[in-house]
Amino acid sequence: MKVFITGGAGFIGSHLAERLIETGHEVLVLDNLSTGAMENIQHLVGNPAFEHRIGCVTEAPLVAELVDRCDVTIHLAAAVGVRLIVEQPVHTIETNVHGTEVVLQAVAKKQKRVLLASTSEVYGKSDRVPFSEDDDLVMGATTHARWAYACSKALDEWLGLAYHRDKGVPVTVFRLFNTVGPRQTGRYGMVLPSFAAQAVEGSPITVYGSGEQSRCFCHVHDVVKSIEALMMEDSSIGGVFNIGSDREVTINALAEMVRADAGSASEIVHIPYSEAYTEGFEDMMRRMPNVAKLERTIGFKPTTALEKIVSDVVAEQRARRATA
Ligand code: UDP
Repeated sequence: MKVFITGGAGFIGSHLAERLIETGHEVLVLDNLSTGAMENIQHLVGNPAFEHRIGCVTEAPLVAELVDRCDVTIHLAAAVGVRLIVEQPVHTIETNVHGTEVVLQAVAKKQKRVLLASTSEVYGKSDRVPFSEDDDLVMGATTHARWAYACSKALDEWLGLAYHRDKGVPVTVFRLFNTVGPRQTGRYGMVLPSFAAQAVEGSPITVYGSGEQSRCFCHVHDVVKSIEALMMEDSSIGGVFNIGSDREVTINALAEMVRADAGSASEIVHIPYSEAYTEGFEDMMRRMPNVAKLERTIGFKPTTALEKIVSDVVAEQRARRATA
């Protein structure tokens, strides 16, 4: 199959491109290199199964041309990362909503298969863990910038499902939970690469809030295998799927694990949310996916152990530091 990946030079997109080429597909990537980077896909350039274009997912004629050349589109391009969202709310809302509109209009013309990336952020402040796909979404007030991201992605989901119902477009939505692994940068505020870089440098490891909040971290290799399996499985059409790990860890425990893996003497410090983000920032205490629906549909669920994930990320940060 020929697969069009928007945001294909990003952290997840570049791993997905690599995986699909390995399993015999052809890949066409579009990326504007805003949070993505050429270095993520440099090793694929020159491979006859790989092609890339630099451009924005909001450029409708370009997107239409690339959609037409492929059998299936996987739409990952988005403004992501809590820090970016809090700092650039207009950019976040416009990129996420308009980009998805452009993609859906293009696939609808030719009734082509599309998979839309969404996020666990859409569950918002719900405390009913684990989160299942049909659960209510509990968003915060519009005065808190964080929720603009959740709302923009929820709107993407509604639009995608509406195209499926109204126009019969074969749409699948997947919600990604804290995906981590090599190539993720800490620049946009993601916790694991930030901790790993701090531990390797020997600088303080910055835990925000009490550190008793927890997350489930999923290896990007498990994530891209799951996306590929949803793409190959027609029964996923019209559905929404959680993709993530169901092993929970507190941020305090994660900081300890990273420090131990790195053999680092870094101090672990706690920073109030108001200093780390902005005044009134709202975090969620727990976020865990129910992955039963994913497992039922594709026959497996993410399994990479957290210890292995942490050691992969620490090793990468050490290698980056050595070459910097
Ligand atoms: N966090 C932290 N230190 C950092 C970055 C993040 O303690 O340097 C916390 C953050 O407040 C949140 C968790 O780690 O509770 C996960 O943050 P991330 O931005 O990676 O993902 P989120 O789950 O918030 O989307």
